[in-house]
Amino acid sequence: MEGLKFTKLITVLFLLVISGISHGRVKSVPVCRGFLPPNSLKIPIGRESFGNGVTEDEFNKVISKVEEIYRPRVAHYGGTLDVRREWSNSEVNAYAVREGSTFVVRMLGGLARHYAMTPDALALVLCHEIGHHVGGVPHYTTAGGQWAAVEGQADYFANLKCMRQVFLPDDNEAILKNKVIPAEARTRCEAQFTQKVDQLVCMRSSLAGLASGEIFAALGGATIPTLDHRDPSVVASTFESHPQAQCRVDT
Ligand SMILES: [Zn+2]
Repeated sequence: MEGLKFTKLITVLFLLVISGISHGRVKSVPVCRGFLPPNSLKIPIGRESFGNGVTEDEFNKVISKVEEIYRPRVAHYGGTLDVRREWSNSEVNAYAVREGSTFVVRMLGGLARHYAMTPDALALVLCHEIGHHVGGVPHYTTAGGQWAAVEGQADYFANLKCMRQVFLPDDNEAILKNKVIPAEARTRCEAQFTQKVDQLVCMRSSLAGLASGEIFAALGGATIPTLDHRDPSVVASTFESHPQAQCRVDT
């Protein structure tokens, strides 16, 4: 269970996707409350002085890679995956929306240009949004969201399923070669998985979770979550919305 908890933990942070878009003739049903909490931060093109973020080329490559894996799986559920690459949109967020049988994900450039964003954290965001569509139960019970996996479930799906699918084919040893891996991540990944290939994916996912957590914390004024802390909160029934950052990391 400790290993499972850690796997949940590394998923975390990012995952709030909302939205309430309504356009076209097809009824648009928002899901997640936004990968990040509602915020007024705008990072337009040319404002990379905020820091690094990902380039437009990286943005497109990450989305294409995840799309290639999940388009057929969404089709299996009778849907069409439509990831909208809104690079010029300065909003710092991402959203999942259902338009009839079209499973929409909106990936916004402002979030991609955030200084703490990395290509792997962007994959985490997209995996979380796809998780709202195909991540399974528990679903939202609030009006308009019956089809959507709750935030915590989208986090589980992102880390336990999607990111593993996305990262596994890569040369993860080479990718991680020059990265600083927290000792806590290394220890827990090595304890949880026996195969080195799985341990490397776990460590890479941990770094993505921490990067997304930094963005979450920066926008919300919260303390940056870490791998060696725990949120002791207990709920009496399924919590559908976005847990606190540390709790999500714990997940
Ligand atoms: Zn979400």
